[in-house]
Parts: sequence; C-alpha cells; structure tokens
Amino acid sequence: MLGVTLTAADECPRCHDPLVTERDALPWCSSCEWNLERYEPERRRPELGWPLVDRTTHRLAYRLAQRQFTALAGRPVGRPGWSVARIVLLFAAVVLLAGTLACLAFGIYLIAYHFPTFLIIPGTVLVLIAFALRPRFPRLDPYAEPLTRDQAPTLFGVVDRVAAAVGAPPPQVIAIDDGFNAWATACGIRRRRVLCLGLPLLGVLRPQERVALLGHELGHFVNGDIRRGPLTRVALSTLGELAELLRPTRRQPFSGGGLVNAVSELLARIVLSVLRFLAWTGHVLLLLVGQRDAQRAEYLADELGARAGGSTACTTLTDILVAEDVVTMMIMREARLGRGPDGWRAAVDQAREALLPRLRGLRQLSVRDRVSLFASHPPAGLRSRMVVSRISQAPTVWLSEAESARLDDELADRYERVRRSLAAG
Ligand SMILES: [Zn+2]
Ligand SMILES: [Zn+2]
Repeated sequence: MLGVTLTAADECPRCHDPLVTERDALPWCSSCEWNLERYEPERRRPELGWPLVDRTTHRLAYRLAQRQFTALAGRPVGRPGWSVARIVLLFAAVVLLAGTLACLAFGIYLIAYHFPTFLIIPGTVLVLIAFALRPRFPRLDPYAEPLTRDQAPTLFGVVDRVAAAVGAPPPQVIAIDDGFNAWATACGIRRRRVLCLGLPLLGVLRPQERVALLGHELGHFVNGDIRRGPLTRVALSTLGELAELLRPTRRQPFSGGGLVNAVSELLARIVLSVLRFLAWTGHVLLLLVGQRDAQRAEYLADELGARAGGSTACTTLTDILVAEDVVTMMIMREARLGRGPDGWRAAVDQAREALLPRLRGLRQLSVRDRVSLFASHPPAGLRSRMVVSRISQAPTVWLSEAESARLDDELADRYERVRRSLAAG
C-alpha cells in the first residue's frame, strides 16, 4: 500500500526516472538513489535522543554503509587482518583492564592503610567498582534450550556438513529459542561455541535457505568477528557498564543541612555527571569503531552462507530479513490459527511471491530505515545486494525437502511450544 501519492510529475531531478516509495516513506529514485539518504525520524527509533545528533549520525552511518558496500561489492570479502578497529579496541581493552586493576589495588591499599581508618569507605567503593567492571564471559541465554544429538539427529547432521563446508569448527552446543533470529557466539570461560536457532525463523525457511543460515552463523566462528574476542569484548562493554554505574538511581532532593552540605552535594553531582558523560562518550566511540568491523564480518558470514547454501538461497534468506515485519506478522497469524511451521512457510511463501515486484524498493528502503552507526549488522537490503554482486556460488551442501521435513518433525514438540507462545503473545 502506498501512503504517499506520487504523480507523473514526481521524477528524479538527477536522472529524470520516476520516483518510487514504499511503506509511506518519502519518495526516492530507485535508479540513482537520489533522496534515499533522507532522514525520517518518525520511521526510526531515536538513537542518542537528540534530534540534531541523530540526524547527523544517520547521515554519517548512511555514507559509511554505502562506502563499505561499494568497497566490498563484487569481490570476495576475505578474513580481516589487523584492522585499525581491532588495534584500537585491543589498546582500549588493555587500558581499561589496567584501570580496573589499578582501581582494585588502590581500593585495597586504602582499606589496609593504618587499618581501621575512615579510608575504608572510599577503599570499599573502589573495590566494589572494580568488581562491577570485572571482565565477564557471556553466559548461555537462559531462554535458549540446548538440544542433544539424540533429540535432533537431522539438525546435528546438517550442522556437521555445513561446518565442514565453510571450514568452521562445529558448535559444542546447538540450542533453539522462540525468536525470529539466529546467533552464534562463544560462552563461558571455556569459550564454548554455541549456535542458537530461533524456530520462527528456521521454520519459514526453504531447505537451502536453512543451509545458508547455518553457513552464515557457523561462519561467525571463522570470520574474525572482533565482537567475539574476549579482549575486545572488554573494550566494547566496560565503559558502558561504568556509565551505567554512575547513573543516579533516582532524582533525590538535596538532603539539606546547610549551605556547605548543599554545595558539596552539588559538586559531587557535577563531578559524577561529567565522569558519566566521559564514560558514555568513550563507550559510544568504541562501539562505533567496533560496529564498522562487525558489519564487515556480517558480509563475510553471508559469503560463507552462500558457499554452503548457494548464492540464490543466501539472497532469498537476506530478503526474508528485508521483509521481516511482514514475515513475522504472517507467522503470528498462522500460529493463532493453530498452524505449525508448514503453515508458516506456506503463508510466507505467498507473501514472498506478492512482495517480489516491490523487492528492489524494499531493499533500498531498508538502507534508509535501518542504517545505524551502532548496528551490528548492515541493513538487510545491502546484504542481499552484496550477495547478488558477487560471483554466484553453487551450493556445496544440499538439504532435500524430505530431510528438511524430518528436521522439523524431530523438533515438533518444540515448534508446538513456540507456536503456543506466539499465539498467546
Ligand atoms: Zn535518479
Ligand atoms: Zn551474523
């Protein structure tokens, strides 16, 4: 449905092709992409919350995304080496770790100095801050349910084949959850490789798209994704945690008690606000550096997805993400009608058919709507176009319809549970 009415006079001032629109967005030129970079705040969640800043970061993010796309389009991405982002993040991680340790050491020193003195109070605060900022290893999401090979032999078998095809070590844990998503990460101090598949996403995919999805996710174990390194994680999280720590819990009125007290409280608040602002700014800058590389890693993972499932399946997989809102709506509707993955897939296949003529526009609009300096993924439309831009790869792993159906059958109980929770939600 077009909410913005276009007339014959609405042509591109640059190339004179007719303008297009989708989903009530302000029109743009689908040939030369004039006006696609337009910032439409009402179509996005505010990022930093200041309109002028959000507009500026959008413009910057759009340019960086387009530049990265142009730099990588049409050629294999390749594993990143020692990028500037990696060096910056590692350096920041070392500084932050040293800072946390210094905080701990100084705290202990203050507590122990001529023990016991009033220095115990600042000493304890410093020790607690160091404790709060200690590096942590991510744990397995409590909502993800790990599966055993006996419970899902077909899924485990396909994952093994895809891992071999993309040259990735197989995951040590395969889990499922009820998100329209899939992720791969390393958990715990032993850095166990975890692959988690959201059943709503897995359920709507065609067999080769499932292979491409597995190829993409397992690709994260070999694509040098800097978000997953233990040290760079420190850089990407510590300052954010510090800013959180310095956030006032609630607006407290000044406690009174005379002018001296009021002035010292005001000063303390100003110092805390400045520290918090500095920590937050540092966090945003590091995130910014990290996400550029992360987006590149996603393109590489897509390349591995195409190697496993074939370029065609990888493109239609990323196009499912372009139309994510329509697809999730279909799944919800079918779940409420009591239908499982077969029903979801049939409905989504119909929607895909209907969306086909609009796909070019939807891919383009996803760039305007989803581009962000803080996004871990490039806009889905650029991912599709990136796969299309490269030399087409034939699948190296085949999943037959029968095998794909068996994979679903083995997970039938879990699908039913997800269906019920979707129907209830
Ligand atoms: Zn144009
Ligand atoms: Zn990914």
